[in-house]
Amino acid sequence: MTGGADLARSLEAVEARVSAACSAAGRRRPEVLLVAVSKTRPASDVAALHALGVRDVGESRDAEARAKAESLAELDLRWHFVGTLQSNKADSVASYADVVHSVDRLSLVRALSRGAARTARRLDVLLQVSLDGDPTRGGVREAELAALGERVAGAEGLRLAGVMAVAPREADPERAFAELASISDRLRRDHPTALEISAGMSGDLEAAIASGATMVRVGTALFGARPPLLR
Ligand SMILES: *Cc1c(COP(=O)(O)O)cnc(C)c1O
Repeated sequence: MTGGADLARSLEAVEARVSAACSAAGRRRPEVLLVAVSKTRPASDVAALHALGVRDVGESRDAEARAKAESLAELDLRWHFVGTLQSNKADSVASYADVVHSVDRLSLVRALSRGAARTARRLDVLLQVSLDGDPTRGGVREAELAALGERVAGAEGLRLAGVMAVAPREADPERAFAELASISDRLRRDHPTALEISAGMSGDLEAAIASGATMVRVGTALFGARPPLLR
C-alpha cells in the first residue's frame, strides 16, 4: 500500500526531477504537465494525489478507469486514457476521458467521435506514433500520420491536440524523443494547434523533457512497482 505520506514524498521527488529537467533544457516548469498514471492503484490513491495538488490522472484499462472516474466524479480531475484502446471500448472511454493519448487508427476516430457526440463531450486526441514500426506496441507509422490527423481534425467532438509515443525498448530514448519532436513539427505545419507532445515515463522523463515533451506519464516513480503482468 502507498500511504499518503509516501505519496507526498514520491510526488515531491518526481516534481524535483521534472523541475530539474526543465531547468536543464532551458524550459519553464509550467510547460510540462505531469500525468499521474494510476493504473492498478485504488481510487483512494488518486484522491490522495488530488489532495496534494495533482489534477491529471492517466489510466490504461477502460473498466478500471471508468470505475475510478465514476467514484471520484466530485473531484476536479482530468482523465487521460494512455493505454492501447480497442474500438469496442472507445464509446465508454469517450464518456469520461478528457484526453485520449493512444489514437492510432481510423476505427478509433470514428468510435470516439460517436461516443463524444452522444454524450455532448469534447475530447482532446493525441495520435500515438510508432517510432520503431513494431505493430504489437501500438502507434501509427509516420507515413499514415497525416491522413489520421486530418480525420481527427474533421471529427465531431474531437480536437487534434498533438502526438504521443512510447520509447522503443531497445532504442536510445534521446534519439527516439528527438524523432517524435520532428514528427510533431511536421504535423503542426498543417495543424498549428496540435501542440502537445506526450512522451516520457518514470524511466526516461528527463530525455523526453529535453526533447520538448509537454506531458510526461508517470506511474512507477509515484506509486512504486506494479504487480507483474499488469501493464
Ligand atoms: C503504464 C504506462 C505509463 C507509466 O509507466 P511508468 O514506467 O510506470 O511510469 C506511461 N505510459 C503508458 C502508455 C503506460 O501504459
